Amino acid sequence: MRFDVFTIFPSMFTGFLNESILKRAQQAGLIQIALHDIRAWATDKHRTVDDTPYGGGPGMVMMAPPIVHAVESVLGDALATTPIVILSPSGELFTQQVARELVQYPRLALICGRYEGIDDRVRIILQARELSIGDYVLTGGELAAAVVIDVVSRLVPGVIDPESLAEESHSSGLLEYPQYTRPPIFRGLAVPEILLSGHHAKIAEWRRMMALCRTKARRPELLERASLTPRDHQLLQQCPPDPFAHLGSIVKETTERGSSATD
Ligand code: SAM
Repeated sequence: MRFDVFTIFPSMFTGFLNESILKRAQQAGLIQIALHDIRAWATDKHRTVDDTPYGGGPGMVMMAPPIVHAVESVLGDALATTPIVILSPSGELFTQQVARELVQYPRLALICGRYEGIDDRVRIILQARELSIGDYVLTGGELAAAVVIDVVSRLVPGVIDPESLAEESHSSGLLEYPQYTRPPIFRGLAVPEILLSGHHAKIAEWRRMMALCRTKARRPELLERASLTPRDHQLLQQCPPDPFAHLGSIVKETTERGSSATD
């Protein structure tokens, strides 16, 4: 899958996109990330890409011509078939479901705003979809675009082990169950006994119950939309009083921060 990112700060992406899983995915040719500096399509000698808002008000607005020309010239014949996303706090919410839709395409264009945002005619002309990564305001769309690239890339076949994706938070509409690794006891907190039992069916059921209980406690609106089995409803009746409290036994009360002497 190819991502074309349109930004006035291409260098912001280099560190983030060139480490770890995204680095390996690029090296393996599973994803390709092309960064395009919108200023290259500015027409004056100062490479201006913003201007004052019509109607007055504070700040500057990113001009339509450099962005539209940039996207059209980079995408060329692929313009008609490539989804074009404008990152915007007033866009529809970017969710795992939206990521699953976007990964169906071989190419995705991402336009990063700055200042007070982007002239709305860009959205109309490019028939772009506006996406928000959450109900808060960033200084620019670069971080938001990096989030979209990261989330969508994980779904590109071959990037992540499919088993890891299957039970993750939001993959089935629920939050994930709690995870543990060695050591079995740390600062007096023991890993829940069931996870050490080797009984796969019971472990699976415990994890399902914890996913259900944690979702109910923290994101009940997700639970309303999830498709639940009759067994799920039974498991929900067995939720611990606080599914975010420690779920294993407490061997010794040494959980305060800074109590490392008793690890
Ligand atoms: N004046 C704009 C408003 O109130 O909606 C905010 C502009 S913001 C300071 C500058 C740019 O950051 C936006 O054009 C957008 O590209 C990006 N941005 C900010 N918050 C975002 C969010 N929650 N999701 C996606 N992009 C965001």
